[in-house]
Amino acid sequence: MPQATKSIYINGVWKASENGKQIDMLAPSNGKKIGAISRGDKADIDKAVFAARSAFEGVWGQMAAVDRGRLLSRLGVKILENIEQLASIEALDTGKPMTLARNDITATARYFEYYGGAADKIHGETIPFLNGYQVMILREPRGVAGHIIPWNYPAQMYGRTIACALAAGNTTVLKPAEEACMSIIRLTELAHEVGVPPGVINLVTGLGEEAGAALSAHNGIDFMSFTGSPEVGTLIQKAAAENHVPCVLELGGKSPQIVFDDANVDEAIRVIIAAIIQNTGQTCSAGSRVLVQRSIFEEFMDALAKRFRSIKVGSHESDLDCGPVISQVQCERVKGFLERARKNGIELIAEGSLDETAVASGFYVTPALLGPVDPASELAQDEVFGPVLAAIPFDDEDDAIAIANGTQFGLIAGVWTESGARQIRMAKRLRVGQVYLNAYGAGGGIELPFGGFKKSGHGREKGFEALKEYTVSKTVVIKH
Ligand code: ADP
Repeated sequence: MPQATKSIYINGVWKASENGKQIDMLAPSNGKKIGAISRGDKADIDKAVFAARSAFEGVWGQMAAVDRGRLLSRLGVKILENIEQLASIEALDTGKPMTLARNDITATARYFEYYGGAADKIHGETIPFLNGYQVMILREPRGVAGHIIPWNYPAQMYGRTIACALAAGNTTVLKPAEEACMSIIRLTELAHEVGVPPGVINLVTGLGEEAGAALSAHNGIDFMSFTGSPEVGTLIQKAAAENHVPCVLELGGKSPQIVFDDANVDEAIRVIIAAIIQNTGQTCSAGSRVLVQRSIFEEFMDALAKRFRSIKVGSHESDLDCGPVISQVQCERVKGFLERARKNGIELIAEGSLDETAVASGFYVTPALLGPVDPASELAQDEVFGPVLAAIPFDDEDDAIAIANGTQFGLIAGVWTESGARQIRMAKRLRVGQVYLNAYGAGGGIELPFGGFKKSGHGREKGFEALKEYTVSKTVVIKH
């Protein structure tokens, strides 16, 4: 386990917070303390931003793109060499089953490999202009990038933001979530070991309303990426507006899986279950609504319920379908949704089960399939962020689109139908950032641009699209 009490990394040096305060870290599987992190605040953020600025104007700004890329690729290899240790840290810290934690670390390495390879492929353009002129469009890094990330996929979020920002030539200040950030500390140690220069990656652990607020409001950053709740996203955007800093926001969803009566039901059920139980439903793009054509609703629900009842929940070590949720607060929040659904008379169609490793001191909830759910109800509208699937019947394509688009979110969607023409019609009408046809990838695909419409946020992370966000164009006009 990393030396977490000195969890602030500025200009290549590990340190405790200026104020000396700490935050205890708990294992979601049993609620026990596993360590502590430094509770950084504005004083640490100031130093981190200063270090990032110096590195941007110095060593990193002057490094050739090929060398930046090589460093990132080397970090990707190093991550894979340490996969078991990193996965164990991630599983203990977040409660996620070991298999999922290993997949997450593999994806983290992929981000560094992918963006490492991209670093020297970020090209500018030329534009035909008046006779006697040459115009070049340079694509330049934005400068110092601030990142505030959540607790659900700490390692992957590190790869998604840091690898992309560095490939584009930015330097970074990262404020991870206070609930889970142990893997991020270890990843930063590995970055140091492979030779990422001081000041290029700066890490300040701490609370959202302290270190996070200080980072988002800092007038020394040039760009902000945030993943988290819509409420905090609003605060981030307001702070960015004060400093006229662009930001990318990824704020969650209420993503629909839409099943038509001509669908391959067996395959749909397998994927629909996987997409709601992955990471115990704590995924922005979890498929948390299943919309089923009314003509097959009853029979589909019978088959879905049968498979749903086989879902098993236990500690991260037991490596079952689901682990605990992240915290007691989150546990009570999810149970609150279920209790209100019960009071409102929504039928509980099926439940998973807790195994004996799901001890009372851990943060466990039983996966639940409920329906039919009124599309206007809380359960169909709000993000639960737990293993809770709301089933909603629909009549035809128009009805499916109205329900699917009828929330404040618009992140991703799945459509299950054998009709090619219908696949195209649905893909065009869904107001979401990713559409899967006869497939679904909750959080998947580092190569695939990802982001939302409406309250799911704006801007795109992942893939080459993200490199556009993390760079800015400069027009150079030459008279010859
Ligand atoms: P969640 O509800 O999933 O924990 P949050 O939006 O509260 O999502 O947290 C996501 C990230 O935002 C975390 O790193 C958290 O510390 C940070 N955060 C929380 N509040 C603030 C704030 N007021 N300003 C900046 N960052 C914040």
